[in-house]
Amino acid sequence: MTTVIDSPPLGPVLDDIVRTHRPRTERGSVPASIPHLAAPPFDRFGIAVATTEGEMFSAGDAGIPFSIQSISKVFTLAMALGADEQDSLWSRVLREPSGTAFNSLVQLEVEHGIPRNPFINPGALVVTDHLMESFPDGADHFVRFLAEQVGESAAGSGPYIDEAAAQNEFANGNRNLALAHFLKDFGNLRHPAQAVVESYTRQCSVMMTCEQTAKAGLFLARGGQGVSGSVVSRDQAKRICSIMLTCGMYDAAGEFAYRVGLPGKSGVGGGILIIVPGECSICVWSPRLDSKGNSLAGMAALADLTDRTGWSVF
Ligand code: GLU
Repeated sequence: MTTVIDSPPLGPVLDDIVRTHRPRTERGSVPASIPHLAAPPFDRFGIAVATTEGEMFSAGDAGIPFSIQSISKVFTLAMALGADEQDSLWSRVLREPSGTAFNSLVQLEVEHGIPRNPFINPGALVVTDHLMESFPDGADHFVRFLAEQVGESAAGSGPYIDEAAAQNEFANGNRNLALAHFLKDFGNLRHPAQAVVESYTRQCSVMMTCEQTAKAGLFLARGGQGVSGSVVSRDQAKRICSIMLTCGMYDAAGEFAYRVGLPGKSGVGGGILIIVPGECSICVWSPRLDSKGNSLAGMAALADLTDRTGWSVF
């Protein structure tokens, strides 16, 4: 693993990343289907680095909660794999980049209800369904899992579900419901479509800060070891990171691998989680998105940070 090239002190580097990349003018967009994501001002920008040594470095708006959206898919996959001794999830979802929109119906029809990977919506719905076998209270269990990793409970200032946002998205979630009904029709969903989409939408509506998200992802940088023991095995941690690298950035995984060179997962709330195996977990957040659905300022900042530090898996 490559380490910091000439060890610039991380605190000042992050401060400079914020100075350089915090948007000064409004560019980019938010998804029309989730209007509440337009609420944060365009110039919000935060970044946090949680190291495997237990240190936390952060700058900018790293303490403001944001909607993690699809970053949740990394954690639900880890939880599902951690509870799946037979690896039976992999008979229900593949591990290939999709090359289509994250919520496309077309590919699912052509490929007989087996989603291409766990990070597109139909794949995440299958993971959610799988998880509900072990944890019937899906999204609430998910929040408890995050709170444990972060070390802060929802009763304090820990991760919580923005229930109003979840309700709103669920009420407009026709496409996700359509995907779930398709999966059900192909025999790849065990629970009612409605219940799976509701749980999935609540998971996406979890609010966490950059600092909390970086902490929550740290087990992936530590070979699967979370704060109080193993979340997934070392092999599974490696494989989750591989899927992040190939499928984590919508239709821009190639561009992200080129510019950043690390496993990452983004969400349409403007957050990106990246993992530097053996070193640290990083979360950047800035709410306006590029045409592929990734944070505009976040992408630029991560390319810059990894160039400055030399962090890469290549
Ligand atoms: N809740 C969003 C949806 O299902 C998540 C999208 C994303 O972040 O990729 O459409």
